[in-house]
Amino acid sequence: ATELKDDKGFKGHSMLAPFTAGWQTTDLHPLVIEKSEGCYLYDTNGKKYLDSLAGLWCTALGGNEHRLVDAATTQLKTLPFYHSFWNRTTKPSLDLAKELLEIFTASKMAKVFFTNSGSEANDTQVKLVWYYNNALGRPNKKKFIARSKAYHGSTLIAASLSGLTPLHQKFDLPAPFVLHTDCPHYWRYHLPGETEEEFSTRLANNLENLILKEGPETIAAFIAEPVMGAGGVIPPPATYFEKIQAVVKKYDILFIADEVICAFGRLGTMFGCDKYNIKPDLVSLAKALSSAYMPIGAVLVSPKVSDVIHSQSNELGNFSHGFTYSGHPVACAVALETVKIYKERNIIEQVKSLSPKFQDGIKAFSNSPIIGEIRGTGLISGTEFTDNKSPNESFPPEWGIGAYFGAECEKHGMLVRVSGDNIMMCPPFIITPDQLDELISIYGKALKATEERVQE
Ligand code: PLP
Repeated sequence: ATELKDDKGFKGHSMLAPFTAGWQTTDLHPLVIEKSEGCYLYDTNGKKYLDSLAGLWCTALGGNEHRLVDAATTQLKTLPFYHSFWNRTTKPSLDLAKELLEIFTASKMAKVFFTNSGSEANDTQVKLVWYYNNALGRPNKKKFIARSKAYHGSTLIAASLSGLTPLHQKFDLPAPFVLHTDCPHYWRYHLPGETEEEFSTRLANNLENLILKEGPETIAAFIAEPVMGAGGVIPPPATYFEKIQAVVKKYDILFIADEVICAFGRLGTMFGCDKYNIKPDLVSLAKALSSAYMPIGAVLVSPKVSDVIHSQSNELGNFSHGFTYSGHPVACAVALETVKIYKERNIIEQVKSLSPKFQDGIKAFSNSPIIGEIRGTGLISGTEFTDNKSPNESFPPEWGIGAYFGAECEKHGMLVRVSGDNIMMCPPFIITPDQLDELISIYGKALKATEERVQE
């Protein structure tokens, strides 16, 4: 087995700063980013970094898209704020809702509910689904099935839906109405000799058994990211969604597509649902919706759900839910302009044409003795470090292999997402072929340094 060259684990910046945001302290010597230009970021010392993660899977149009700045400025000057309660609203909010309903074509959607984030979108989903089932007179159909390694956000409900242990431990989560089924990671979890299709069949059978064990009359909805993001960039195995959707449909369980990362071209299709032929009842959006220039999220609601909800909506039985900033006019104006740019610049074709260079360039490192698997599609990629190319031989966590790789990237001028021994990249859609060469070259240098640190 591979050994570490010295007896010290690596405790670089990324190791010291685990999954947490919001705490702002200087004692951890944070990397302070000051400025962005296209796909590059600059810290307060003027050091330049290629942003391989598009901020946090979101700045799809890069750092200085003037049209988005203009859209925000114009709206700020015209109407900086008005709410969308009590059937009052603003034009940008209405126009954006209309646009989203037009471009989402995987299944029919009728209504849009705006939030400020992906977490709020997923929380809203739970309330919509509960309201829907209560309105249909089936108050016991309350449980949600999500998947291990999913990420759906950080609020109490969204963290419950997520399938990552650190989001649950010490928080008394997940909430009791949330169940988790298998993570669809073929490389890690398939049985000896099992094909991708057989693996998908087994997972669909496991899902069905879970539903039967709990009682189908208690299961309200299933939620999934088309490609799992923060759990390690895990595209679904062949036939997975086809088989999962058949099970979900059989038991009258709603399908929620969490498109917070996949939407607007990331996978080379407008939505992740388009790529995998998913026909959801509800969709969550955020991130690239505004290219992250303003915080905004959205829920798309099918007529099946919204008709029931609206049949109940009167003064006493309203869907009483909403945020001060739901449909914030500045955020909506920016999002509207963002979607307009995606369409004008034919962003889907752009992602499709860049994808082979990105995917093949990174996958060319698959033979590295410290890499277990490289996976991805479109402009999203995940690398998992393991010993002996085996999913069952993780490196000792105290070696900090992923953190070391991340720190080497940082040293060479690139920021990646590190999570344990998983590396994730998701560059802006505007990345050029030359910048992709740079990304691949820095990845290669960081990999070489990481390989040298461990020895056979
Ligand atoms: N859903 C997915 C798939 C995500 O990746 C994220 C964030 O990374 C969220 C939901 C939560 O979004 P937010 O951080 O905007 O609350």
